[in-house]
Amino acid sequence: MHSFSSVGGAIATGTHGSGVGNGNLSTAVAALELVTGRGDVLHISRADPRFEGVVVGLGMLGITTRVTLDIQPSYQVQQDVYVDLPWEAALGAFAEIVSAAYSVSLFGGWADATLKQVWLKSRLPEGSVTPLTMPAEFHGAVATGDKVMSPAGDDLDNTTVQGGVPGPWSERLPHFRADVTPSNGDEIQTEYFVPLEHAVSALTAVRALGERIDPHLLVTELRTVAADALWLSPANGRDPLAIHFTWHNDPEPVRALLPEIEAALAPFSPRPHWGKWYTLTAEEIAAQYERMADFRALADEFDPRGVFRNAYSERVLGLA
Ligand SMILES: Cc1cc2nc3c(=O)[nH]c(=O)nc-3n(C[C@H](O)[C@H](O)[C@H](O)COP(=O)(O)OP(=O)(O)OC[C@H]3O[C@@H](n4cnc5c(N)ncnc54)[C@H](O)[C@@H]3O)c2cc1C
Repeated sequence: MHSFSSVGGAIATGTHGSGVGNGNLSTAVAALELVTGRGDVLHISRADPRFEGVVVGLGMLGITTRVTLDIQPSYQVQQDVYVDLPWEAALGAFAEIVSAAYSVSLFGGWADATLKQVWLKSRLPEGSVTPLTMPAEFHGAVATGDKVMSPAGDDLDNTTVQGGVPGPWSERLPHFRADVTPSNGDEIQTEYFVPLEHAVSALTAVRALGERIDPHLLVTELRTVAADALWLSPANGRDPLAIHFTWHNDPEPVRALLPEIEAALAPFSPRPHWGKWYTLTAEEIAAQYERMADFRALADEFDPRGVFRNAYSERVLGLA
């Protein structure tokens, strides 16, 4: 069974890719049709002052039944993979590294001296299909001509075409091919967003837990997202670094580790990925979202009987 997200689920949780200039997927929404908790059919677009509260709605406001997305002409992207980026080099030039291509992902563990892979996804100039020439070395990491397998499992051949071969964005920006199980397939995921300006301090704080984290980790991925104005978007009002953990499917040790990681990140104003595992409380989360009270008011307006509320909405949003 493949586990790609639905458009509705991706939008409702602020699902993202990477790139300092790329907003999350929810930012492409221009209008929505929603069946609210009152049973009304609501059409809402950017002109409505409530729109920015509705898009990342976590399913708490209603059921999205139609979506209007911004589109643009297709474009070409190439992926180039480098291996063994020293952590020291990564931390020494972090802002430069994550800005080095249209979309940049760093993969690895926390206790090692190097990050195992850097993926640079470069957007080609409009109309061009000529491969860009990339350097043989990238901040001490070395270009690999070999195809890399899943970052979350060396024996899993599920990645899209790499090796600097241009192709349509839809076959290069996703890490994983659409015809196979993505990532590992037997895993737990966690992700925290911290302001990019705190990246080095936040990563250093998590690295101090590296020996505790790595035995339970399949891989970490570091990405960036452009700031937006959606009330419950993890990128609301700040350009974040997204610190992701793909865990072995061992719930107990993972559950035990999360509060330690959250404590390490606490000085850096972390926000959790709504669709992944975390133990931050509704109070801690509300402290990171200026518009949380407005969102709760919106939930009361759209769903006065609490049709869409559940244990999750109570735990993370305080909506009982
Ligand atoms: C292998 C894998 C890779 C992933 N990669 C990424 C990644 O690269 N970036 C990233 O940010 N996340 C990633 N995720 C997380 C995933 O994108 C999010 O959890 C996403 O929300 C899942 O969407 P879904 O439709 O599967 O979820 P669901 O569990 O169905 O929905 C998630 C939320 O959206 C709401 N929702 C769903 N449909 C609707 C609707 N029609 N109307 C209103 N609300 C709705 C639900 O109520 C729920 O609150 C990944 C997850 C997996 C398993």
